[in-house]
Amino acid sequence: MTKVIDGKEIAKNLRESLKKEISILKEKFNSVPGLAVIQVGNVAASSVYVKAKTKSALEVGIEVIDHHLDELTTEKKLLELISKLNNQNNVNGILLQLPLPKHINEQIILDSINPAKDADGFHPLNVGKLSIANHNDENLLIPCTPYGCLLMLKGLGVELAGKNAVVVGRSNIVGKPMAQLLIKESCTVTIAHSRTENLIEVCKAADILVAAVGKPEIIKGDWIKKDAIVIDVGINRIEKKIDGELKNKLVGDVNYAQAEKIASAITPVPGGVGPMTIACLLRNTTIAFKNSIKI
Ligand code: NDP
Repeated sequence: MTKVIDGKEIAKNLRESLKKEISILKEKFNSVPGLAVIQVGNVAASSVYVKAKTKSALEVGIEVIDHHLDELTTEKKLLELISKLNNQNNVNGILLQLPLPKHINEQIILDSINPAKDADGFHPLNVGKLSIANHNDENLLIPCTPYGCLLMLKGLGVELAGKNAVVVGRSNIVGKPMAQLLIKESCTVTIAHSRTENLIEVCKAADILVAAVGKPEIIKGDWIKKDAIVIDVGINRIEKKIDGELKNKLVGDVNYAQAEKIASAITPVPGGVGPMTIACLLRNTTIAFKNSIKI
């Protein structure tokens, strides 16, 4: 029987344990973690993500400091705001919702965030620390989506060491940090991307297949090794005919209906990786708070 990995449930458990931890921290230090949430402009998807992240943060007891800026905000103004937040005592984590408007250089802004407050784990210093094997993960600010995937893999209770892991996608926010985390677990890791030759054969060799492509259902059932574990990061909105009517539907990068017949375990879309990403953002904010008071 294929196990459907319930990201919603695992994320709920993580949020509950963070809530308990934050209430203990509050009692002990008379303060709680603070998360500054920056959104520039009004991209609809960004507004949905910001709303969900804010709601979850407040629910676990994190203070949210909201900065919703105009679409025309200049790079200079945004840098000034980040500089202020970098030095603001009640801010432990800074979340910059991406994408930014085209006139702002994303990397310049990400690099300007104090690495100790880098709630997304995208700052070069944190990326570097992740690739250095002897850092203790408990204190690290690790990109939320891949860390959420790792927690789901670990939750299966199967030995990860020695497994062939294939990550399809090499983005800075998902594919590359995912590969780093799997290397740390002693998997043998292959990163595939748009220039990979024989992608189907590469995927078929995977005991653990992580899809972070952004192409609806690109990975078919016959690309998957029997009993592989499949983690589908993709979130793609497509139009599909349901009962003769065209409807909007969220699908992953994996053809779920086909894959669930072959995989030993698989994450659904929605309800898989998505909720884990938000829970791991709250975890990073709590870690940043604890690091700031040297717990
Ligand atoms: P990017 O567009 O930054 O990266 C996509 C990667 O897929 C690139 O490395 C690209 O290769 C590779 N790729 C594209 N086409 C192919 C192909 N035909 N064959 C093989 N590889 C291909 O995307 P992200 O990493 O930001 O996101 C990936 C997906 O995950 C998206 O659907 C996104 O919405 C979703 N996502 C979900 C999150 C969640 O919380 N669940 C969080 C973040 C993202 P190349 O480098 O050669 O261009």
